[in-house]
Amino acid sequence: MTAPAPCIRIAGLGKTYPGQSLPALQAIDLDVAQGEFLALVGASGCGKSTLLRLIAGLEAPTSGGIWLNDVPVIGPGPERAVVFQDYSLYPWLTVMENVRFCRSLRVHTGNASDSQAASAVERSYALLDVMGLDAVRNHYPNQLSGGMRQRVAIARALMAQPRVLLMDEPFGALDAQTREVMHELILRLFEIERSTIVFVTHDVEEAVYLASRVVVLAPHPGRVDGVHALSLPPPGERHPDLKLAPELLQWKKIVLERIRATSGVQHDLDKLNRLAELSRRRTPT
Ligand code: ADP
Ligand code: MG
Repeated sequence: MTAPAPCIRIAGLGKTYPGQSLPALQAIDLDVAQGEFLALVGASGCGKSTLLRLIAGLEAPTSGGIWLNDVPVIGPGPERAVVFQDYSLYPWLTVMENVRFCRSLRVHTGNASDSQAASAVERSYALLDVMGLDAVRNHYPNQLSGGMRQRVAIARALMAQPRVLLMDEPFGALDAQTREVMHELILRLFEIERSTIVFVTHDVEEAVYLASRVVVLAPHPGRVDGVHALSLPPPGERHPDLKLAPELLQWKKIVLERIRATSGVQHDLDKLNRLAELSRRRTPT
């Protein structure tokens, strides 16, 4: 059997922000398969958000390029949707209006037929139902908890049936309990929608629980340290108990060690240990 064609191809990708001496990203080569759940992890500042924004077409690379099904990415497009940590909802629109926003724009500009508009309305109801937002569809974002707001943001991102869902620390601002619920929700959605997901997180457990492959980025300059194909059940078949299973904890350890090794944390810990050793020697027994 031949491997499926990559959905996203990233080759020789580099990004240097104006006025910065070090590239935010350097020589990134990475393929993401159609229907894959890929997680990006790494120390703060290693370029995770930059890479996601480049795939989204919200930034332009300095070198190399990104191809989506062999078409070069030169800007944002409806086949890619982004969910950010801060929800970015329109505060003056209700939940339902937020979810339908892109669609209604297209309907209003006359780019949608009646049947497309009708199926969009049907899809918005189905998404609100699956996201548990039915009861609050006429509420405004400021009347909702963080978890509910992020559900709205995800429903809105899924509205146009994107082939690629790009998520930048989407659950980073949520409490641990809500995050657990969101993990199950995103896995079920992944199964139903069959989109390709690129998921940025600083939470290693979240990365190994959700993804089938985890990419560790190293900082200064941002580069790929390693790509870990997890020997775990496919994301669609995972269950919360797996979070405590030895095979998942083993992967968590491997990934954490790589982040420590590349982020300078180990260096800081060594220095602290040396300081502790000196203090012990000075303390009279
Ligand atoms: P991460 O998401 O992994 O924390 P980022 O992609 O946000 O990392 O940032 C990578 C590097 O690029 C950092 O050194 C950051 O300071 C720099 N950077 C990010 N965005 C900009 C910007 N708009 N202008 C200048 N430098 C930036
Ligand atoms: Mg970031």
